[in-house]
Amino acid sequence: MRKITIAVDGYSSCGKSTISKTLARTLGYIYVDTGAMYRSIALYALRNGFVKEDGGVEKDALIAVLKNIIVGFSSDGSAMLNGENVESEIRGMKVSNCVSYVSAIPEVRHHLVELQRIMGRNGGVVMDGRDIGTVVFPNAELKLFVTADAAIRAQRRYDELKANGQPANYDEILENVKKRDYLDETRVESPLRKADDAIVLDNGNMTISEQNAWVMEKVMDICQNLE
Ligand code: C5P
Repeated sequence: MRKITIAVDGYSSCGKSTISKTLARTLGYIYVDTGAMYRSIALYALRNGFVKEDGGVEKDALIAVLKNIIVGFSSDGSAMLNGENVESEIRGMKVSNCVSYVSAIPEVRHHLVELQRIMGRNGGVVMDGRDIGTVVFPNAELKLFVTADAAIRAQRRYDELKANGQPANYDEILENVKKRDYLDETRVESPLRKADDAIVLDNGNMTISEQNAWVMEKVMDICQNLE
């Protein structure tokens, strides 16, 4: 069966990575979590004092050192920043609170989009993010746009942080989820929006296995029509 490109976009904490990881494993495809790449750059900005009190970022200082920031993934899928495993650190609230300011910087986006295109250039990839179907791979054979009510998404994020032994406060998480949605949708450079040809998956009332079955059905439909 020909290997296709699958773009999974959508709002913060709506389970894109859970769906995408399972899909990639089932199909034997590569999985790329592009949010982890933006989070890794945000962590670098935090560690180097480029993040202001209000979460805003010293853009020029960050742009000047972008070429020194190497982001990628280890063989087990953990996010790597300049050779260090930062998987756990990038998921905390400090990074969540400034990442949407970092991801709004055009130079950061161009740098990461170029890397993402290289990672997925041979197809057989499931890539999740905010601009995969609109900018990174506008010709992806399957595009999904995942959404759910903000309160449900915040609860999932809260459960995930707790399960990983990280500090979590539901109200703070809900506020962060709503703020990131707003910043991601209103930024000038490749804002979050549904590609015209994306299929919407509202998973607020669906179990994980229902979502997996739903997505596999879409993949099979597309692959059969390609044969
Ligand atoms: O997917 P995740 O919630 O980890 O993404 C963190 C942030 O990275 C998002 O809120 C968004 O600002 C940014 N992002 C982006 N474009 C992508 C992936 C993530 O702007 N393709």
